[in-house]
Amino acid sequence: MKASNQVSRLRSLTTKQALATLVAGFVLSFIAGAIELFFDARKMRDEIQIQTSQMLKLVEATAAEAAFQLNPELAEQVVTGLYSGDNIVKVELRDDFDRVMFSLGEEENFESAFYQRLFGDIVHYQQPLEYRVVASDSGRQVGELELTLSLQALSQSFTERSLLIILLSILKTLGIVFLMVWVFAFLITGPLLRVYNALQSVNLEKPGKWHRPYLKYNKGDELEHLVKGLDDLLKAFQSGLDQRDQLHTLSTVDALTGVANRRYFDERLELIWTESRERQEPLAILFIDIDFFKLFNDNYGHAAGDECLKKVANLLLSTITRPDDLVARYGGEEFVCVLPGTGLQGANQLARRIQDNIKKLHLLHEFSSCSQHITLSIGVASETPMNHEMHPERLLRLADERLYLAKARGRNQVVSEHSDI
Ligand code: GH3
Ligand code: MG
Ligand code: MG
Repeated sequence: MKASNQVSRLRSLTTKQALATLVAGFVLSFIAGAIELFFDARKMRDEIQIQTSQMLKLVEATAAEAAFQLNPELAEQVVTGLYSGDNIVKVELRDDFDRVMFSLGEEENFESAFYQRLFGDIVHYQQPLEYRVVASDSGRQVGELELTLSLQALSQSFTERSLLIILLSILKTLGIVFLMVWVFAFLITGPLLRVYNALQSVNLEKPGKWHRPYLKYNKGDELEHLVKGLDDLLKAFQSGLDQRDQLHTLSTVDALTGVANRRYFDERLELIWTESRERQEPLAILFIDIDFFKLFNDNYGHAAGDECLKKVANLLLSTITRPDDLVARYGGEEFVCVLPGTGLQGANQLARRIQDNIKKLHLLHEFSSCSQHITLSIGVASETPMNHEMHPERLLRLADERLYLAKARGRNQVVSEHSDI
C-alpha cells in the first residue's frame, strides 16, 4: 500500500503531544510556583519575626540593666552584640528619658513598593525595657531597645529563595514533559508508526499476507485492537480476492483438463489477433482432434476417456511452452493452439512435435483403425493480419478445414497446405 506522503516531524503526534504537555506543564507550574511563593513569603515573615524576637528576648535583661544603671559600656556591649547579627541595619538603646545611650548603623534608603508591602511591617522592632530589683517586682520601664532590619537584605534573600523555587518548578515541569513524551512515543506513536509502515508494505495482490506488526507493550490496549481490526479487514479483503481469482479461473479454465476453455479462447484470440496486426507478425493456429475417440470412449469407458483427454492436454501444455502461446479445449476431444509470431513452417514443426510426443506416450487404443495407440489429426494455418478487414475467424476456419482434410486423408497426420475443400 503506497502512502501519499510521509508524516512530517512537526505534525507528528509526539510533537503535538510534547507541545501540549509543555504548555500545560508551564501553566500549571506557574500557578503552583505562585502559590508556593505566596506560602514561602509567609513562612519567611514568620521566621524573621520569631528569630528577631528571640534575639531581643536574649538581650532584654542586660539592656534593661544598662538603661537602669545608665551604664554606657554595658549599653555599647548590648548594641554591638545585636548589630553583629544578620540583616540588621540599625540598633539603638535609649533610657527612659528617650536619650540615646548607644546607637549603631542608620536607616537604609531602599525604595521598593513591592518589598515594602511584603516586609515593610516587620522590619522595625521596639522593645520596652523593664527593670525589676527582685524577681517578684512588678517592674517599671527604664528604657527602650530599637532594632531595624535591612529591607534590602530581606528582599535579596527572598529573591534568591524565589529563584530557587522557580528553577525547581521548571525542572519538575521539564522532567514531567520528557517522561510524558517518552511514554507517549513508546506506547503510542512508536507502535503507530510500525502499524503505518506495515500497512505501507502491504502487497495489494496479497493483502492477507501482510507483516502484522508485533506490539510487545500494547497487549490488550486500543492499538492492539486496531491491529487486530486491520488484520481482520485485510484477511477479509484477501478472501474477496481469492474468490475473485477462483471465479476468474472457473470462468476461463476447462474444469476437466486445466487448459483454457472455449470462452477464454474466443476472448484471447481477438486480442492476440489485434496485437499481431499492430506488430505485423504472423499468427498460427493448430486445430487438433483425437482420432476415433468415440470408439475409445465406447470401449474403455467415459472415465478412461476423461483421463486420456487430460493426458493429451498436458502433452500440449508441455510441448507448447512459449509464454504468449495459448492452449485451449475447443470442445469435446478437440483442442486448439494459438501461436503468436509463428509462421506456417514453425507451426508445422510444432504440430509434428506434438505428434511425435503423443506417439511416445503410447496411450493404447486398440479400436483405432489407424494405429494401436491414440493419434492426433492436426490442421495448421498461419496468417499475418494486414488490416481491419481481416478477422481471426477466417484463420480458424482455415485450420479447421485442414483438420478435416487430415481426417479425410486417413487421420494421424498434419495438414498445413491449401486445399480446395
Ligand atoms: P474422428 O476420428 O473423426 O475424430 O472420430 P471421433 O470418434 O474422434 O469423433 P466424434 O466427433 O465422432 O466423437 C467425439 C467423441 O468424443 C464423442 C464423445 O464420446 C467424446 N467426448 C467428447 N467430450 C468428451 C469428454 O468430455 N469426455 C469423454 N470421456 N469423452 C468425450
Ligand atoms: Mg471431433
Ligand atoms: Mg475425433
